[in-house]
Amino acid sequence: MTLTEKLLARASGKARVQPGENAWVNVDVLMTHDVCGPGTIGVFKREFGKDAKVWDRSKVVIIPDHYIFTADSMSNRNVDILRDFVREQGLEYFYDVIDDPNGSWHFDPTKGQLKQQYGKHFAGVCHTTLPWKGHLRPGEVLVGTDSHTCMAGAFNQFATGIGNTDAGFVLGTGKILLKVPESMRFFCEGEMQPGVMAKDVILHVIGDIGFDGATYRAMQWEGPGVNAMNMDDRMTIANMAIEAGGKNAIFPYDEKTGAYVRERVAENGTKSDFEPVEPDADQQFVFDKKYDLSKLEPTVACHPDPGQRKLARELTGVKLDRAYIGSCTGGKTSDFLAFARVVNGRSVKIHTFGVPATTKVVAELKAAQIGGKSVWSILENAGVQMTENASCAACLGGPQDTFGRMNEKALKCISATNRNFPGRMGHKESQVFLASPYTVAASALTGHITDPREVLA
Ligand code: SF4
Repeated sequence: MTLTEKLLARASGKARVQPGENAWVNVDVLMTHDVCGPGTIGVFKREFGKDAKVWDRSKVVIIPDHYIFTADSMSNRNVDILRDFVREQGLEYFYDVIDDPNGSWHFDPTKGQLKQQYGKHFAGVCHTTLPWKGHLRPGEVLVGTDSHTCMAGAFNQFATGIGNTDAGFVLGTGKILLKVPESMRFFCEGEMQPGVMAKDVILHVIGDIGFDGATYRAMQWEGPGVNAMNMDDRMTIANMAIEAGGKNAIFPYDEKTGAYVRERVAENGTKSDFEPVEPDADQQFVFDKKYDLSKLEPTVACHPDPGQRKLARELTGVKLDRAYIGSCTGGKTSDFLAFARVVNGRSVKIHTFGVPATTKVVAELKAAQIGGKSVWSILENAGVQMTENASCAACLGGPQDTFGRMNEKALKCISATNRNFPGRMGHKESQVFLASPYTVAASALTGHITDPREVLA
């Protein structure tokens, strides 16, 4: 069996499962957020009764992160609905925007978008918060009401996005009916060359198989090229499985995974035992391809979908209006460090927005130094508008007043985010070009799409 099959067999109490077979799977963690949480709660109450209790209050993780720093009253109200539910159910894991468990959330636009407007429990983007707060463990099943839940596959677990109806059912029962996906193997060899990042790897692969090339399939990553990657790189790749239609992404377990997870569960006092899955010698794939990472170059997915692959050096004629670094995929500390390396001591030419994925990233960028200066100040001095309000922000547009949202038509933005369908970051006539933090930074400096190898020392 492949990693995904082994995991689903174990989670459904079977010795073996086959692709295409339906299995009732026991869920280890259910994650929801402010956009889908209220709908999920509504389904749960409708189907299980208004006094029903969730199946296990230690296995539900609620992370407000999407439409948070906006004056839109309905969006603010969504956070309050989550808080009411957490209180009613006695849930253990809720990363609230405010400190008062009986309060209500109101964003104050008069304070501006840049300065912190959250309390001590707030964390930021759900997929980046889950590993930080010790909710991911190898060998487990995570379902979340968000398509990029697949990011947790970096940790050798089965992780996938589900809709509100399924999530309401999971809240009541702890189970989900899943069709076992066929598996595709992406075997990576060779070393990424200077200027190339994990984002280029996944953009290259999606360009290769198409934005529907892995539809309802597991994307299994293997090989020495993968083993050499750190956990942030693996997360970047796993995050974008859904951009090829993938059901999930999955990486083998290794000591890097174990060390990362053990540190986070100890720090947060979350469940510490786990049992990884190892690949079988007889695993069967419907697609099996080798990729030589040393041959990859800085890559861009052009408007209007993540499969529109071109090399950055082929696109120097594309003039840009904006650059954006942030999101679960591209707003990690390592992403900002790469970005800062390029813009250090220089000035961006176009409006450039920086949105850290989590509050921890904010703290780390303020603490980290390059040449005696904090990374945060290097970014600000280069002209990047940095917000302390870690969240999804303009990654998926959001209400009109969302930081970095493209409100005017026909703007072109290069972005370290993961999705670029029309209207994704705001106006439906804007265009988004997906790229690595290096490529976004180099392009911000020139005002047109730029191969970062031209500016990296
Ligand atoms: S940062 Fe973007 S991709 Fe990630 S969860 Fe938020 S909206 Fe989705």
